[in-house]
Amino acid sequence: MELVFATHNVNKVIEVQGLMPKGIKLLSLKDIGCTEDIPETAQTLEGNALLKAQFVLDNYGYSCFADDTGLEVAALSGAPGVFSARYAGPEKSNEKNMQRLLVNLKDKTDRSAQFRTVIAFVSRKCTKTFEGICKGEITKEKSGTEGFGYDPIFMPKGFDQTFAQMPLSLKNKIGHRGKAVQLFLDFTEKLL
Ligand code: IMP
Repeated sequence: MELVFATHNVNKVIEVQGLMPKGIKLLSLKDIGCTEDIPETAQTLEGNALLKAQFVLDNYGYSCFADDTGLEVAALSGAPGVFSARYAGPEKSNEKNMQRLLVNLKDKTDRSAQFRTVIAFVSRKCTKTFEGICKGEITKEKSGTEGFGYDPIFMPKGFDQTFAQMPLSLKNKIGHRGKAVQLFLDFTEKLL
């Protein structure tokens, strides 16, 4: 069975494919012929996840799911949050985003943060969202080469490695996206 994941982010597809039961093959936006950058103009993660999934249903006719993720830092009142991708500017540079965050936290003692993922599933019959949170802290410097985005500076609570130092299987087990995907899978199992 094929399932459309409304994303251009290859890393997200790899992560989520690793969480899917055998027999489910994820199709990315590229796989369905969508090369457009879907506008993410909502002010919340929920809103953006719904925008992306609804865009694919409306324009390509596929039931699908989308994810929107934000890094919420306590000492910055929840920033960058829904603006995580463009934190350091419109070019969406992971490197510049991390540098900006490290600079903004330079004098802060509280470095606690959480990743929050919202998955939106949209079909002609139903619209539903699922949330996953992973708490942790922002490290003082980058470590590790795995993963993507802010992974080199995020250390999940109870671990002494950043997400970028962990194997994907561990990030998937304890991470925000893994938790949201599990709730989504629990829901789809009930539908089948
Ligand atoms: P979006 O969900 O694709 O809009 O991602 C928002 C921002 O968070 C981008 O800068 C991503 O690179 C980053 N991001 C999303 N998911 C993760 C993750 O699992 N780890 C680290 N960074 C992430």
